[in-house]
Amino acid sequence: MNITQATIFPLSIPLIEPIKMSREFVRDAKTVLLCLTDEEGRQGWGEASVAPLMTGETLDSLLGSVKYLVENAKSYEWKDPKNFAQIFSSILYGNASAKSCFEMALLDLFTQRQSIPLWKYLRLENKLSHLADPKPIPLLRMLGGSPEKEVADAKTYRTQGFRHWKIKIGSLSLAEDMERVAMLSELLDGDVISVDANGALSLSDAIRFCESKQASKLSFAEQLVPADLALSDFIELKKKSLIPIGLDESIHGLAEIEEFIKAKAFDGASLKLIKTGGVLEAIEAAKVLKAHNLGMNLACKIAETSLSGAATAAIGFALGEVPWGFSMSNQYLQFDICDQALTANAGHLDVSQLADSGIGIKPQESRVKDAIAKGYALIQC
Ligand SMILES: [Mg+2]
Repeated sequence: MNITQATIFPLSIPLIEPIKMSREFVRDAKTVLLCLTDEEGRQGWGEASVAPLMTGETLDSLLGSVKYLVENAKSYEWKDPKNFAQIFSSILYGNASAKSCFEMALLDLFTQRQSIPLWKYLRLENKLSHLADPKPIPLLRMLGGSPEKEVADAKTYRTQGFRHWKIKIGSLSLAEDMERVAMLSELLDGDVISVDANGALSLSDAIRFCESKQASKLSFAEQLVPADLALSDFIELKKKSLIPIGLDESIHGLAEIEEFIKAKAFDGASLKLIKTGGVLEAIEAAKVLKAHNLGMNLACKIAETSLSGAATAAIGFALGEVPWGFSMSNQYLQFDICDQALTANAGHLDVSQLADSGIGIKPQESRVKDAIAKGYALIQC
């Protein structure tokens, strides 16, 4: 398989409503789409979003790296996905998000050529074909805003079938957050409820939170403390916590997962393709977590389109379960870039939405062009 042409689209898609996290206020999805054309004229699509506080990527840095990768990729023959990561590394050091974007487009092409959905290909390659047909993946819904809005949203979405929740904490005082968490835990009793501080709490506040009665019904607490704390601090938090500890910003791929497993410093992790460098490393990471009976949440950055959502979901369908739910973030976008956007069905994503060969989502070029970020233009390589 050869790449004959590539187009890179820098996008900005407004969110339905801004999302406030402890260290950032997100108003729009800044995301890069890549369309590769092979020698048979087939098109494969990839995506990666910016995440200045998670991967260090901005729209400009991501565009630069994707362009560099693509320009240098044309001289290679892309035969076996097992070798993709090695070839990427021979072109460019690090830059997991750009590699994830490129790998996604290559896998889309590769699986289209084989007439197989990506999730089925992952299942076959990981010797998981004995598993039953995949059940719908539970979608994790974020809660935030005023207490009245959080309660109203929780009630509305619960009626629709959502049973997995994430409460963003860390921008209010600890006492206020603990009160919110207790109130929502009561309201959503029996569901999988988590909090995510995006690393905003001090170690002592995190310990206080995890030992509190107010947090006692949580299924897990994600990235309470900054990723740059010493490993010994994470070990202390894990030892003292009465609830499971999840990590996100601390975990980029297999290396950190193995380090934290060895240190017994967490109970599970959030996997994002922009951190792992793509689907193939993410599924390896998911398998290691599962083998150690650790929790796993699949997640898109706030926010990514249906394309990245579908590639991420393919891992969940291949494995057959996502114990901590799937944060599918296209649900927060004002519009998507394909005609058939991924949608929640009773709070879940059905595998039937990924029935087509390849990733299963085809961006519509006119919609993609309409979403190009102000001050940017598409790049043809
Ligand atoms: Mg997180």
